[in-house]
This record gives sequence, structure tokens and C-alpha cells, in this order.
Amino acid sequence: MPRQPSLPLSSSVLARRATRAVLLCASLLLATNAAAQGKKVYISVDMEGISGVNGDDQTGPGGAEYGRARKLMAEDANAAIRGAFEGGATDVLVNDSHGGQRNLLPEDLDPRARLISHSFKRYGMMEGLDDTFDAVIFVGYHAKADAPRGVFAHTGSGVVRDLQVNGRSVGEGGMNAALAAWFGVPVVSVSGDDVAVEEVKASVPAIRTVAVKRAINGRAVELRPLVDARRDIQAAARDGVKAATKTKPERVPAYQVRMQFRNYFIPEVADAFEEMTLVAPDTVQFSRPTMPEAYRLIRVLYRFINTN
Ligand SMILES: [Zn+2]
Repeated sequence: MPRQPSLPLSSSVLARRATRAVLLCASLLLATNAAAQGKKVYISVDMEGISGVNGDDQTGPGGAEYGRARKLMAEDANAAIRGAFEGGATDVLVNDSHGGQRNLLPEDLDPRARLISHSFKRYGMMEGLDDTFDAVIFVGYHAKADAPRGVFAHTGSGVVRDLQVNGRSVGEGGMNAALAAWFGVPVVSVSGDDVAVEEVKASVPAIRTVAVKRAINGRAVELRPLVDARRDIQAAARDGVKAATKTKPERVPAYQVRMQFRNYFIPEVADAFEEMTLVAPDTVQFSRPTMPEAYRLIRVLYRFINTN
């Protein structure tokens, strides 16, 4: 049987097919670009909850074991960075979040990560975070001020007895998680002592937790083998980043902050600002319309007021 001669195609059909082909190419290109761009991951690294860290001669410059501890800090950070890249990150920003915030040495850090250094920052432990990130990871975190069993427990600095945001008492983890939520970026994993990670989980129930040590009391700890702790930090970062999906920003019309101090000096100075209310000799209260603004002022109060 002779083959049917194919009918000539009308120009409108040809035009439709061409348009479809162009659209298909464009969507393939977009998909490829999205995969190539990968995820953008933010890692905030504190020191007290780092694997192996167990004494205050380790946590500040001048301490006999400070040099050792900053290497340990870099190792936990590197475990998180490795995990983030395994989980699909193509851009990782590390923020040194401890004390003077110049603990991590760039030469010790995984060369794929960028590093923010120095504590003269508006947003401290969360400097550089914005809504372009896909996931946040906390490394080396500790429990909040006055937690009866957390190792090196404090909030922000030694001067704070309690910090409340919208009626909830929070530590650094809770405060930082509230800022991440404001930007709609999920906090996917946290490492630190067992008290610290449970505390952060109370603020972020879906978070992956890695207890790298067990707090026996405010000073004594049971340290897990370093290799196990780092393996778990890496795995939690990998799985957390892989599963991370951006959320709708969590915002409320006002952020009410109440800060109780261990001295009367800071409230005495803070009372000079019109928006501060002295609700007790050791406690101030203020309100800000956004979490970044509240965060910035909390930081001013615990870090940048000189009472000498
Ligand atoms: Zn801290």
C-alpha cells in the first residue's frame, strides 16, 4: 500500500509548535538553573556548645586552652558545612557568633564557606541573614541564662537574667530562631549540650538536634567522642538542608520585649531612651514593629552599654 502523502502544515500550526518548543526550552533552562543555583545556607556558630569544649579557659582569648577550643569550633563548623553541601547547598555563609566573634580562623574553615567575623554588628549572631537563604543551622549553642543544668548557660552576655519576647522567655537560640522565622527561613538543625538543644527545639519543634555533650551541672559535662559528634552534626545538616523548604514569614504586628538584668546599671542607662519603660529597678520593657528592630535593640542593651 502506498504511503499517504503528508499534508502540508498550516502556518498557524507551525507557529504554535514553535512557541511550544520555545516554552519547553525556557522551562528546562529555568529548572537547570534552579538546580545549579542550589540552596543558600546560613550557619551561626557559638562556642560553649562545641564538641569537646568544657571549661572557661577555652572560651575567651587569653584562656590557656583558647587556641585548642577555636580549632574544635572550626571542626564542628566544618562538619555542618560539609553536611550543608551534601544536602544541596551551593552557597554557605558562616557567622562567628561567640564573644568578640573573631574565633574562627579562615584558614581552619572549609574553603567553600564565606565567613563573617567581628562582633561590631547590628544583628550579632544572625548578622547577614535575610530572606534569600533557604536554611539556617545553629552550631555550638548553649542554654539560656539561669537554666539550672546548662553548661555555660547565659543569654547574650553575662548581664541578662531573663529575656522575653512577646511573653515567652527565650535564650539565644529562641531569639535567633524568631529572627529566622521573621524572614521565613527554617532553622533545620542545632548542636550543643543536651539542655541547649532541647531548649531550641521548644522554639522550633521540627528542628534536628545533636547533643554533642551531656550537661551534668553548670560546669561538668560528659563529652561524646568527637568523631561521633561531628558525624551527627554533618548528618543533621545534610538531612536538614535537603528537606528545607522556605516558609511563610512569621510576623506579628508588634514585638514586645522584656529584659531583666543582673544589675541595676543597664536599666538605669536604658531609661534615658523614650521608648523604654522601667517596669522594675532591674527590668526594662519596649516594643518594636519588627523582629529585626527588636533584635537590634536587645543586642544594644546586653552588649553595647558601658556602665563603668
Ligand atoms: Zn552564646
